[in-house]
Amino acid sequence: MIVRMSLDFAECDRARLARDADYDGRFYTGVRTTGIYCRPVCPVRPARSANVSFFPSAAAAEAAGFRPCLRCRPETAPFCSAWIGSRATVERALRLIAEEGALDQEGASVERLAQRLGVGSRQLTRLFARYLQASPSKVARTARVQRAKRLLDETGLPMIEIAMRAGFGSLRRFNSVFAEVYGRPPTEIRRTRRSARKAEQTVEDVTNEKALFSPRARSAPRSQKLPEFPLRE
Ligand SMILES: [Zn+2]
Repeated sequence: MIVRMSLDFAECDRARLARDADYDGRFYTGVRTTGIYCRPVCPVRPARSANVSFFPSAAAAEAAGFRPCLRCRPETAPFCSAWIGSRATVERALRLIAEEGALDQEGASVERLAQRLGVGSRQLTRLFARYLQASPSKVARTARVQRAKRLLDETGLPMIEIAMRAGFGSLRRFNSVFAEVYGRPPTEIRRTRRSARKAEQTVEDVTNEKALFSPRARSAPRSQKLPEFPLRE
């Protein structure tokens, strides 16, 4: 028997007001007055409930026009696992997209990804729409931007290197997609971060950089329920 646990607006609202870490990675809060989206654990003073919307994925929040918060850094949210039933397919697809760049390489396609998962591409797209409110390609785009943001924050790599490692085919593409998502170019984000830290790359940076691509660096799968979306308001 499949037990469907669901989160509703009230539960998400309670979780973000309490900064409940158990909900981190399970939903994102879009603040309509600022156009920014956050993790439930954001340290910034919470917005009024009347001004927020909830999303099951960062890609969905971005598709709705929200930009990632620079304080709680949605790109560092834990990967949520332990889904049930057809959600397992979504979870595997998410891992392949986020950790292996399954939609980044040349010749990569949603069809091929679906094939690897043993489902049809239409079914995969439907599952993404249902559970993440975003298409596989939108999720892949967000994953690329998030990878780039982590590299910007945690390494001293040149921009072209970040663009390639993050899965963008070119520096131009990286600059344009990043600016679209953050509303400012990657160089500006790096300047802001650098003013608060040493510009020199340290041994620690190199270690972090390696850790970014290691599955072990991600939080261990937690047994937890996931929100049933769309949420009722
Ligand atoms: Zn935030």
